[in-house]
Amino acid sequence: MPRSSSPRLLLLLPTTTYRTAAFVEAARRLGVALTVASDQPSTFEASQPAGLLTLDFAHLDRAAEQADRFAREHSIAGVVGVDDDTAVLAAVIVERLGAARELKGNPVTAALAARDKHRQRVLLAEHGVPAPAFELHALEEDPAGLAHRVRYPCVLKPLRLSASRGVMRADDAAGFVSAFGRLKTILEQPDVAACGEPARHLLVEDFVPGVELALEGLVTDGCLRVLALFDKPDPLDGPFFEESIYVTPSRLPGLAQRAIAACAQEAVTALGIRDGPVHAELRHNDRGAWLIELAARPIGGRCGAVLRFESREKGNGKRETLSLEEVVIRHALGMPLGAFEREQRAAGVMMIPVPGAGVLREVRGVAEARAVPLVEDVAITAHRGQTLVPWPEGSRYPGFIFARGETPDAVEAALRIAHRHLQFIVEGTGDAW
Ligand code: ADP
Repeated sequence: MPRSSSPRLLLLLPTTTYRTAAFVEAARRLGVALTVASDQPSTFEASQPAGLLTLDFAHLDRAAEQADRFAREHSIAGVVGVDDDTAVLAAVIVERLGAARELKGNPVTAALAARDKHRQRVLLAEHGVPAPAFELHALEEDPAGLAHRVRYPCVLKPLRLSASRGVMRADDAAGFVSAFGRLKTILEQPDVAACGEPARHLLVEDFVPGVELALEGLVTDGCLRVLALFDKPDPLDGPFFEESIYVTPSRLPGLAQRAIAACAQEAVTALGIRDGPVHAELRHNDRGAWLIELAARPIGGRCGAVLRFESREKGNGKRETLSLEEVVIRHALGMPLGAFEREQRAAGVMMIPVPGAGVLREVRGVAEARAVPLVEDVAITAHRGQTLVPWPEGSRYPGFIFARGETPDAVEAALRIAHRHLQFIVEGTGDAW
């Protein structure tokens, strides 16, 4: 139970997130007082005035004013956002409340640059960080004309979406025109068009070949600490970029891993990120490390569960286990983190591929998949009756498989075996997978 003197964390949660439970549990373990803010009023708010808060997420200044008013009654010691949008709002709130309270966080300009793929590319280029060459185009432009000017292979992508939604590779003019039309349709969806100007543009980039890695990091005073580096063993060569397996530690040679970490640090500096978690995608090829994208938030979805850290308690040498969410909260509150590192074991997660377009009727083989040695959990997050949408229009995995073991190879093999046990019955295509 948090004591009345416990530091209070303001946690900004979008209504659609898998992350609530992990953060609430982390706050409970740490004994911090927690205020969960979301943009939908909760029926429990009146009974828990310090625990729940409604903020107008869509209007940043108004939300910051609401948070300010709340903070005058309940002193806030840290603010955490969990996705790209709430990371921006966290920065706005920290800037508003921060001066007097010395809250940790990012400048608003940095959080905005991390969210906007074009702004990010501009800053990376200005600072000489290796990243794909890019051009910004408007949706009204004539794709057939553009198709003859761009270099192939190229990648077309939206400025604001995440989870690879709308990201497509084109290898020639015909492919470009078709990808352009498909992206335009995605950007015209009401939920996407609602973000305004950014939804009326797209980026066209050089395709960077090579292996891809994901880096989970924590920035303190602008200095990046790598918490984990994940291999993505399935090639991500397109035409769409749905993720699959993440395994840590990376099997890439040490020199390449250092190049990756150095490139991510350059990106942190270029974007002006000061404090908090970062999640970055990078590629490595014979020309070195390339920054594909850096977000000012922790890893998305349920994947955070794959990371476990251990800290040695002072004096008795006992090892305490920490979740990623605990690391993020402690950092935000300026609580001492001490010496900690990722656990010794290898760990991995598979974001289960969307088996096909249609309505999910049933998932078979979950018990068998869970019984595979080294597999810790199989979480099917799609529910019966849910419409599954493959990439590039879609952005939600139907579930996740987690495994832990002695080596990355063993973990990767266990994930693949477990996945083979799963059978998704999807209506609409007439097939079962
Ligand atoms: P999102 O934020 O939606 O995940 P990204 O810009 O990170 O969008 O792109 C998603 C994925 O698409 C990347 O992880 C990578 O696999 C692939 N990708 C994006 N841009 C490029 C590029 N220029 N070259 C090669 N692959 C790319």
